[in-house]
Amino acid sequence: MDITLYNTQTRTKEVFRPLIKGEAFMYHCGPTVYDYAHIGNLRSYVFADILRRTCEYNGYTVYQVINITDVGHLVSDGDDGEDKMTKALKREGKPLTVEAMLEVANFYYHAFVDDITSLNVELPEAFPKASEHIDGDIEIIQRLEKGGHTYVIQDGVYFDISTFPAYGKLGNISLASQKDGARVLVNPEKRNPADFAVWKFDGKLGWESPWGKGFPGWHIECSVMSRKFLGQPFDIHTGGIDHIAVHHNNEIAQSEAAYGSPLATYWMHNEFITLNAGKMAKSSGGFITLGSLRDQFVSPLTYRYWLLSGHYRSPMNFTIDAIRGAQNALIRLMGQVSALPVGGTASQAYIERFRAYINDDLDTPRGLALVWDVTKDGNVSDADKRATILDMDRVLGLKLDTVQHVPEEAVPSEITALVEAREEARAHKDWVKADALRQEIEARGFTLSDTKEGIKVQAK
Ligand code: AMP
Ligand code: ZN
Repeated sequence: MDITLYNTQTRTKEVFRPLIKGEAFMYHCGPTVYDYAHIGNLRSYVFADILRRTCEYNGYTVYQVINITDVGHLVSDGDDGEDKMTKALKREGKPLTVEAMLEVANFYYHAFVDDITSLNVELPEAFPKASEHIDGDIEIIQRLEKGGHTYVIQDGVYFDISTFPAYGKLGNISLASQKDGARVLVNPEKRNPADFAVWKFDGKLGWESPWGKGFPGWHIECSVMSRKFLGQPFDIHTGGIDHIAVHHNNEIAQSEAAYGSPLATYWMHNEFITLNAGKMAKSSGGFITLGSLRDQFVSPLTYRYWLLSGHYRSPMNFTIDAIRGAQNALIRLMGQVSALPVGGTASQAYIERFRAYINDDLDTPRGLALVWDVTKDGNVSDADKRATILDMDRVLGLKLDTVQHVPEEAVPSEITALVEAREEARAHKDWVKADALRQEIEARGFTLSDTKEGIKVQAK
């Protein structure tokens, strides 16, 4: 069965035709590691994971890259404003040195890997770091320079978009709307308002280059790392919708101008998670992390379940009521699945329907609804239900095979939520929190015991 994906480039759903039969090469714009990722950022990687798992479910071998931006991303996403890593150094009272910058970046890189691991995201084959590809950046900039695509002004080396007539093709971006500085504050030295820096000068924080000391532009990093790990072109490039107008069009301009071949065949973008219908932004301070969800006893898998209940191309507004709804649903589902006997075989009729949904541009809401249909279907034996649901969970990734809960009626949902939170704390080796949660569970009249099948909860 074909996989159909919505391609931002053609603005249609297209059958996925990989460059190499049976293999899927994909690049996902990664986090800027100057702070914890917020739950909006994490949607991008759950979406990438569903894409990966869908390809694997259909028999593909997947090669995935998530880059780590540890240098070069300015607060504005353009060429103005403070560098995000510099901002982090100041916030944390560290010296403005490359060494300190990499130390801060390393901390948030590990926090990011912990986050996506707890969301049950399969780890990519590579997490290349921007700071380790400075030579590659210099090489492509020299190539662009030779081709007449760049010019040097006071604050850096810029790409001249008039030398790349297809500029803005992704998402059909109107350059007229950028003339008044709507996108990038107009720097009078720039030849065109949408020209962007490929190298920014910085006398203190940075690396030597043929043009002067500084650091690479944010966009150039992705052109270099995607080509190095996946070749050019590769199959699928993803990111949040905010990346279409500037970042991805800039990546395309650089890579295609330098090497004369397309950068990627399919461009896919996830919609935003909003908070009270407003944008969630790291730089504005008010944002929710997996840590803040845990503090409310909401597990990362609950967040994953909630994400999958919406389509990746639909905006979702985060509210505590919505997440509580997802929590109850997931707890019920876990309870039901764990009560089903092992030893059955998956129902092919259901699997075919599931595959049709998921292959239709990753329609997880319909996939999840089908899981619930299976639980209610009196014509499927209990053992077959379990096998069918666990097969679907290869894509959904809700870890339904590892959870053992006693039947839901016996334990109230707030206790199950505490048990889940304790499991999370244990997974993060937070023994103090895990102990506190055990005491809380016991104080509420329940006992916990570790069994071969997992944690058992019983009323005292
Ligand atoms: P950044 O660390 O800012 O480079 O962002 C990492 C990823 O998160 C990118 O793919 C962004 O497009 C995406 N992103 C940022 N904010 C949101 C949001 N509120 N909802 C969904 N995705 C987002
Ligand atoms: Zn990128």
